[in-house]
Amino acid sequence: MSGILAGLSDARLYSACVVVILYLTTCGYFLWPRRRAALIQPGSDKNASTTLIAFASQTGFAAELATRTAQSLQAAGTPVVLASLQEVDDAILRQSKSALFVLSTTGEGDAPDPAAAFVRDVLDSSVSLKDLSYGVLALGDREYDQYCAFGHRLDQWLRHQGATALFDVVEVDNGDEGALRHWQHQLSVLSNSPDLPDWEAPRYERWRLTARQLINPGSAGDACFHIELQPQAEANATWQAGDIAEIDPRNSTWDDKPETLPHREYSIASLPGDGAIHLLARQMRRPDGEPGLGSGWLTAGAKVGDDIALRVRANPNFHAPKGTAPLILIGNGTGIAGLRALLKTRIAAGNHRNWLIFGERHVAHDRFYGNEIDRWRESGQLERVDLVFSRDQSERRYVQHQVRDCAADLQRWVADGAAIYVCGSLQGMAPAVDAALTAVLGADTVENLAIAGRYRRDVY
Ligand SMILES: Cc1cc2nc3c(=O)[nH]c(=O)nc-3n(C[C@H](O)[C@H](O)[C@H](O)COP(=O)(O)OP(=O)(O)OC[C@H]3O[C@@H](n4cnc5c(N)ncnc54)[C@H](O)[C@@H]3O)c2cc1C
Repeated sequence: MSGILAGLSDARLYSACVVVILYLTTCGYFLWPRRRAALIQPGSDKNASTTLIAFASQTGFAAELATRTAQSLQAAGTPVVLASLQEVDDAILRQSKSALFVLSTTGEGDAPDPAAAFVRDVLDSSVSLKDLSYGVLALGDREYDQYCAFGHRLDQWLRHQGATALFDVVEVDNGDEGALRHWQHQLSVLSNSPDLPDWEAPRYERWRLTARQLINPGSAGDACFHIELQPQAEANATWQAGDIAEIDPRNSTWDDKPETLPHREYSIASLPGDGAIHLLARQMRRPDGEPGLGSGWLTAGAKVGDDIALRVRANPNFHAPKGTAPLILIGNGTGIAGLRALLKTRIAAGNHRNWLIFGERHVAHDRFYGNEIDRWRESGQLERVDLVFSRDQSERRYVQHQVRDCAADLQRWVADGAAIYVCGSLQGMAPAVDAALTAVLGADTVENLAIAGRYRRDVY
């Protein structure tokens, strides 16, 4: 047997799978018996790119979500092995290239009972996991102090062992469907299957497309459109900076029969006081040249005056920090959308100690929301702005270079209590900024900032 479970004897893997099957039977999860049998294939040759899906469940919800995760990936052609965390040990982790963890938290931030042996035997040990990429779905209840604590504990441990996070921990408050759809978005990225259908269709509301403007004419990058959407009668027009607009990328108008399509997510760039949801959408093309499902609908398919099916997803992890401490906002490309809403919130609250570090390609074409940023800067509502244009000089220059070049100022702002919010590309920018912050502030400080909620990311 090669790949993920190489080194394990067939007998041992088989016994692990039997435990999983027994566990799921106990929980009543044999809803799709034929497909489940396909999920767990001891001795399968497909293990080279097999993704381990491990769950820690107290009441069965994590097991159910892990099963759905396995089914989605399998439908997308990604081989998976599903296992309870009680069957996972350091050897399995060492041999895995890709793993997804679905983890409940119980009691006072504790692991579910079946994970006790894993916590005792694995979480206190040191294992080199340099080859492992992983994602964590953390289930919890925001009413409790130790919200999603076990998910975060495993995430921190994996980082310490050298594993690479594919994306930040996805927290699920009380089964929140929006957070679960975000997890499904990550699964579609992971399996390179943009058309994976949603587990549950969101309850969309009707928002009218009232304005759309190309904001980077002549750009070397793909076209970006500022979009305005006004709530129609039944729509709930309350949101906060950091929240996400989920849209149904239907290729027809509101009144036509809805198709089952995966949703798409866009950072909201405005506040309710603006009277409309503003989005900044980049028009994506698929490899065959066809417009992207969501961005194509928002930027070209739908006409101004059409109604768009939209739902606001609360994204508490990226809400503006409470209080008056300084805020450092770092982003690139359409990431300015989320940062713009945060800046508006800060300015409305009279918090002017804001520092924006934003990167795009050419100053002549890609100064997104440049006039507004200038106004905020000149009025002192935005204390510092560093715009970084990667292609305006012979050497490529990105926001992460600016972070390193401003080390002393950055350290001072953080010593003054600043929070750091990052919005934009998951590929390239977010890991490079993370590395730059680690170089400037030290790994311990970056980790402590993350634990304290002073380092937050909304990257995609
Ligand atoms: C939390 C969150 C916030 C987001 N905010 C914004 C935003 O403010 N503005 C914005 O324009 N987009 C944003 N996105 C990305 C957006 O949701 C879509 O992924 C993007 O519009 C492409 O979707 P599509 O349906 O148009 O293209 P698809 O039909 O999914 O595919 C188009 C092609 O582009 C590739 N592709 C898909 N997504 C990406 C990506 N993110 N980066 C690079 N290649 C990709 C696919 O592999 C495919 O080849 C956000 C995503 C998340 C998860």
